[in-house]
Amino acid sequence: MVSRFNALVEREKVMLQPPTLSIYELSMSVRVSWQAHSLSTAGTNGSNKVMSRRQFLADGTETDACSGSIAKHHHAVLLAEYLMASGIPLCPACQEHDGCRAAALIERPEYKDLSVEQILQGCGLCDAHGFLVPAKNANKQQGTEARHRRTKHSLVEFSFALGLPERWRETMHLFTRIGDSKEEGQMLMKMPARSGDYALVVRYRSVGIGVDIDKWRVAIANEQQRRVRHRAILSTLRDTLLSPDGAMTATMLPHLTGLAGVIVVRKDVGRAPMYSALKEDYIARLVAMKCDTCLVYPFETVDAFNAIMEDLIATSAPCLPASYCPQQQVVEEK
Ligand SMILES: [Zn+2]
Repeated sequence: MVSRFNALVEREKVMLQPPTLSIYELSMSVRVSWQAHSLSTAGTNGSNKVMSRRQFLADGTETDACSGSIAKHHHAVLLAEYLMASGIPLCPACQEHDGCRAAALIERPEYKDLSVEQILQGCGLCDAHGFLVPAKNANKQQGTEARHRRTKHSLVEFSFALGLPERWRETMHLFTRIGDSKEEGQMLMKMPARSGDYALVVRYRSVGIGVDIDKWRVAIANEQQRRVRHRAILSTLRDTLLSPDGAMTATMLPHLTGLAGVIVVRKDVGRAPMYSALKEDYIARLVAMKCDTCLVYPFETVDAFNAIMEDLIATSAPCLPASYCPQQQVVEEK
């Protein structure tokens, strides 16, 4: 796998120009418009009616919502493909799209004693989307050994997409469906299709690529390897917004009719500010925070968003943590 990565890097060297921008953290505050979708639902509650997801806002308004977990799940699925295409290794669990990631492997003898650093080196998806192996006490009766907690928080975080009050509507549709058995015959199902303008926030902590961010130890210092993972994450974020994915897309693929917002890049240590598109002036407020270390890229169309992302993919690289000192880490490891 390593040699495949090296071969791909060799091939890409012509394309991989030296980075002109280092990114510590990136945020996206966007307003996205979807028509006739059912990207996120709250199940049936035992009835024949699929319920939409709803969320109260601070002023008591109830609005339409799409869960961030469904966006994160679909980001992880596509990211696995981008990583594999770039020659980045995936652990056996991530190769099979097991959402538990490294935690699914921990009972295997060869994974039992793996450190967080070894997990990150061996899997680009565990590195980007995180995992949790809970601690366990030894149990003499069951003959099981004690286990240390090993964890990494996700580097990519998604908010709920929240419908702008007064800018969303729902239509109920009646569908017929063949039941699970012959006796059930034909079933009637009520399913909602929603249309609206949604506020969505995404945060990507690129400094954490190849880093155990619990202990702030660098597991992957190789600049090329970190940059290839970073490019895969950015490419997937671009696709996530340009081609919506979620529930019910087989028959309710959303019409994407608008994408506007702001991408903020923090070049050095610090957070990239976010401000929700629930507020009408969100673009102006974010643009006003522009400074030497905080770059602000507003956009009003899908193609303008695509052009900014393409530029970031081609020219940026992830920062290393400020605490990283190669000699010190080598001494500690000896
Ligand atoms: Zn994995």
